[in-house]
Amino acid sequence: MSKALLSALAGQPVIVGAGLAGLSAALHLRQPCVILTPSPLGLEAASSLAQGGIAAAIGSDDFPELHAADTLAAGAGLSVPEVVRRVTTAAPQVIQTLLDWGVPFARKNGVLDLHLEAAHSRKRILHIGGDGSGAAIMQTLIRRVLARENITVLEDTSLKGFMVQDGRLRGVHTSAGFLPTSACLVASGGIGALYSEATSPSTVSGSGLAHAARAGARVADMEFTQFHPTALKTGSMTGRRPLVSEAVRGAGAILVNEKGERFTDELQSRDVVARAIFAHIREGHDVFLDGRRLRETVFSQQFPAITAACHAIGVDPEKSPIPVSPAMHYHMGGLDVDARGRTSVSGVWAAGEAACTGLHGANRLASNSLLEAFLTGQWAAEDIDHVGYQHILLRSVPTRQAHSQFSGQIPKLMSEYAGILRDETGLQTLLHAALPDVETNDGALVAALVAQSALKRRESRGSHYRTDYPEITDPYRTTLTFSDLPVPERLLS
Ligand SMILES: Cc1cc2nc3c(=O)[nH]c(=O)nc-3n(C[C@H](O)[C@H](O)[C@H](O)COP(=O)(O)OP(=O)(O)OC[C@H]3O[C@@H](n4cnc5c(N)ncnc54)[C@H](O)[C@@H]3O)c2cc1C
Repeated sequence: MSKALLSALAGQPVIVGAGLAGLSAALHLRQPCVILTPSPLGLEAASSLAQGGIAAAIGSDDFPELHAADTLAAGAGLSVPEVVRRVTTAAPQVIQTLLDWGVPFARKNGVLDLHLEAAHSRKRILHIGGDGSGAAIMQTLIRRVLARENITVLEDTSLKGFMVQDGRLRGVHTSAGFLPTSACLVASGGIGALYSEATSPSTVSGSGLAHAARAGARVADMEFTQFHPTALKTGSMTGRRPLVSEAVRGAGAILVNEKGERFTDELQSRDVVARAIFAHIREGHDVFLDGRRLRETVFSQQFPAITAACHAIGVDPEKSPIPVSPAMHYHMGGLDVDARGRTSVSGVWAAGEAACTGLHGANRLASNSLLEAFLTGQWAAEDIDHVGYQHILLRSVPTRQAHSQFSGQIPKLMSEYAGILRDETGLQTLLHAALPDVETNDGALVAALVAQSALKRRESRGSHYRTDYPEITDPYRTTLTFSDLPVPERLLS
């Protein structure tokens, strides 16, 4: 990329990540802005992989209050009620906006078709193409982004660090060079790639969160990592695992072992089903999702993407049960933000999965995250427009080495010690393995923040299960900053 292009973009708000949160923010910003994305638009974003759909109380028997009650119940006492109310109340308007923009939500007899998913008390999941919801929403938004003159997309470009002077953001280091700016939105998604088995793309590794935390931003609820109960068991068993969506269980598929015996109730919340499968596998069983007798539908018609993924491993889901096991899926924690999406560092906002708004608490309700990504992107953009452009005065020429992104050991350690079951010994092992690298390695920093938060939570709640503290205690939230980590003085640069 030319220096001339970079200097032409100086001062514009920078959006890190081109998932739903980043694209929603760009489309809501009235001023010119820049999107950084390590891959071509639409690729390598969890948003494009979303299968089930997006939740909103639009059915004739449904109300935002019911959607809020289900979200609060899933959050296990830690969701912030005002945030839950605000998001669920705004959800029907989000659907209207997406329809106005051209998202082709599925209809039955001309009426929007609503699916039921686990732990929702009403049918309220809007979907497209059976299991292609995220890809269709993203394609619609990408078309709009490409048609807008005020949005510059820098593909093959990643955030590499923040420059903060006198407590304010002065610019961002990118893989293409330094960009002076007084506003940056971190929309870099979750932390799935830090686990050896995850449903999310490999670029979703928490690096935006790590850079913001290093710049001083506070993080919250980092210990809450959601494992999807039914990721497709592929031959290699490492890397990105295709998802077999909750909607398959909603449509009537049942969980069985190698003898065809049922061992749990499929429609319980994600954490409960994931632990039941994990325990059954540990007892030596294989676990399958049997979708051969769905209600009211044929598997391959309702779930074409899942059918294709099954065929790729030689399984026909209409003839045989699908082999599944849990995999890391979603991070409830992230950069602690207020109602406008502001982090604790002036000039740095966060949205989508990279942020922690308090919506999900200890456990996310299925199909609430596309909704949150769209809305938090919108709200942050409105606030960035409100704050307006600020002239950047740099006291010195910024220099900084790019951080390495990954440590080979992290995925194995995260899966082993910050997985479905945790305890003091394992979390201390993870923390002490990660601490020496937190200054220079993004994965190590995120791992240390997860481990430290999980150590602080001496109870079991929602997706966080401590075998040494299996009981639930009074609710409290965990927040941390980089300087709270017990990094030995000699290791700090
Ligand atoms: C397989 C799967 C199925 C899902 N199904 C559903 C569903 O049906 N309904 C639902 O509500 N939710 C679902 N989710 C969750 C949901 O998709 C995500 O939580 C949501 O899309 C997150 O959006 P985002 O914009 O925050 O992040 P993402 O869509 O993950 O986008 C983040 C972007 O940031 C980029 N990035 C990362 N680091 C950097 C960096 N340093 N510099 C620049 N860019 C960077 C990434 O490449 C990526 O493009 C699913 C998730 C997965 C993985």
